[in-house]
Amino acid sequence: MKIDILTIFPKMFDSPFAESLIKRAIDNKIIQINTIDIRSFSKDKHKKVDDKPFGGGVGMVLKPEPIFDALKNSGVKKKNKEYKNRYNKPLIIYMSPQGKVLNNKIVNNLSNFKKLIILCGHYEGIDERIMNFVDEEISIGDFVLTGGELPAMVLIDAVARMLPGVVKEFNSVKNDSFYNGILDYPQYTRPAIFKGLSVPKQLLSGNHREIENWRLKQAYLATKKKRPDLLKNKVKI
Ligand code: SAM
Repeated sequence: MKIDILTIFPKMFDSPFAESLIKRAIDNKIIQINTIDIRSFSKDKHKKVDDKPFGGGVGMVLKPEPIFDALKNSGVKKKNKEYKNRYNKPLIIYMSPQGKVLNNKIVNNLSNFKKLIILCGHYEGIDERIMNFVDEEISIGDFVLTGGELPAMVLIDAVARMLPGVVKEFNSVKNDSFYNGILDYPQYTRPAIFKGLSVPKQLLSGNHREIENWRLKQAYLATKKKRPDLLKNKVKI
């Protein structure tokens, strides 16, 4: 998968993608991430990318021209939904607190695209006319951050985990919270007794069926306790 990130702070992406699974996915060419500096598309002699809002008010707004030119440079021709085989064409995402709130279903769907173009806003946001070229507006939650860079990192990390080969054992992704609509089961490791607290005996039994049943039950119990909303449409055990 190719990912272009359009940002005015490209350096913010250096460290998160230089570690752990994402670094390995880049090294193994499973994902290719390009950070593109919107400022380099400014025709202003001071490389200005923002301006005061029309109508007055506080803060600055990212200007439309450099963003549009950066999008064109990433190969955008038309809206993604206008293509027949849309997964083969780039999907333009604007990270925004006003967008659909990111969840596992959206992450899974995004992992099917060959190319994502992720636009990060800043200051008061972007000139609204750019929304004519955006396919999806995605939020990471009902709160406001200073810029779209951290939300873009969150989205990329979540999508990358869905790509074959990024997490060595894909079964571990399938057991993760939300993948099957419920939370993950509790995990334990050595020592078997820690500060007088024992590991559940089923996990030490060596009986795979017993372990599987215990885990499934615990996953449901954890979901019922912590996120009962997820169980609304699930068959109870
Ligand atoms: N004035 C905007 C509003 O209230 O909708 C918020 C602008 S915010 C300070 C600057 C940028 O941060 C946004 O353009 C967006 O790219 C990003 N951003 C902030 N919060 C976000 C969130 N919860 N999810 C995704 N992106 C967010």
